[in-house]
Amino acid sequence: MRSQLKLALSLAQTALLSCAVSVSAQDDTATQTLFKNVNVFDGFADELAMNTDVLIEGNHIVEVAKNISAPDATVIDGGGRTLTPGLIDMHTHVTFETTAGTNGFNEYDFGGAGAMGAQALRDNMLMRGITTARDIAGNSRGMARLIQRGQLVGPRLYTSGGVLSPTGGHGDWGGPTDTKRNLDYGAMVEQSFIIEGRESVIEASRRNFRNGAHFTKVMAGGGVASLYDPLEILSATQDEVEAAVEIASEYGTYVAVHAYTDASYNRSLDAGVRSFEHGFLVSEDIVKKMAKKKQDIAWSFQCFMSVATFGDYDSMPGFFTHEQKLKGVAVGKGAKNAAALMLKHDVFMIGGSDMFTPTFGPRMKEDITCRTSMVGYPAAQALKMSTGNAGIVLKWSDVLDPYPTYELGTIRPNAYADILLWDGNPLDNIDLILDESKLSLIMKDGVIYKDIM
Ligand SMILES: [Zn+2]
Repeated sequence: MRSQLKLALSLAQTALLSCAVSVSAQDDTATQTLFKNVNVFDGFADELAMNTDVLIEGNHIVEVAKNISAPDATVIDGGGRTLTPGLIDMHTHVTFETTAGTNGFNEYDFGGAGAMGAQALRDNMLMRGITTARDIAGNSRGMARLIQRGQLVGPRLYTSGGVLSPTGGHGDWGGPTDTKRNLDYGAMVEQSFIIEGRESVIEASRRNFRNGAHFTKVMAGGGVASLYDPLEILSATQDEVEAAVEIASEYGTYVAVHAYTDASYNRSLDAGVRSFEHGFLVSEDIVKKMAKKKQDIAWSFQCFMSVATFGDYDSMPGFFTHEQKLKGVAVGKGAKNAAALMLKHDVFMIGGSDMFTPTFGPRMKEDITCRTSMVGYPAAQALKMSTGNAGIVLKWSDVLDPYPTYELGTIRPNAYADILLWDGNPLDNIDLILDESKLSLIMKDGVIYKDIM
């Protein structure tokens, strides 16, 4: 049943793709591009494969080997540069890019937020080497569709659509004098769905999937950047989280949770949640329980916005209140500890910056370098969390995967041709990814967006 549905969906998606031939080069007679003389980071290995060639056909990789011969291919001589997969940011909020962040809808309408989001997708992400992003709360369903159809320039976008949040939870962005639920502007435009019990979870999940979400995000614990929820509260009930997993499973996809504490992680692990955001206050017992699940679940780390930004009361965003800053300090302390435990027990890890607004948006890649400079992860591990591992998690959208044909985040045959060339070796010096002059070439879906070689 699922495979029939999947086939039908991929046929429908193929039809959509063929409407956008000017952008997508997916067909059998596609042109070939051959990268010669490059050192390859494949998204997983700790070492580079030296002096390697990579052959692209249309929008995907067909061969990775030494001395490839392809007489009809356009040759790009890498000159000993490092070739990596395009970067993947697994935790963004495209519709909160305005200067006011999650408070933006008190000042701007959805059109303004969409315009800022489109600009961020192009300038802060694609043109800096982030070729795929996962929007994990916010109604970017339309933007994701526009990019997929080649009508908006940006990274591939996977979106949760509106987040499911109980009244007063991390996704309740209404004012402190609201008297009825669902009346604030953000909820009206489905930035969030305010849930109260199982039935409302089912209704919100189905609406979200109907309109183009690729997975579900639930607020399953308190938050930092919100007004009404102490960090320690559980927010969504066990029954509500289970209902979200039930509907997501029917659609062949998965649930991600926002949560910080043992109690909220434990509840979500038992309910069948797969993607665990934040978790900066969890104990070693919970980390061990996560490790046992191997690659059935992933921990999603926001290094910069926990360790760096929340390390110090005075360095926090100006739009935060005093109470929000106090919560931030608690998170900053716990994050280093959680990061060390996750590495020690070999939990399957991905990374996403959670960095948006004109202040933080252009700095998204500092989340990757933070993993090495501030918590001591090896550079290959830091990169793997934003390439190979991230690509595996994106495929958990399964039936709802908007890019179902090939793999993402890796350099091997049958992966999408999302490729970066670096002047230098990021495994030796991870900070070079912050220097745009060292990013020599950006290719997404077989199309070159930047070339300064
Ligand atoms: Zn977030």
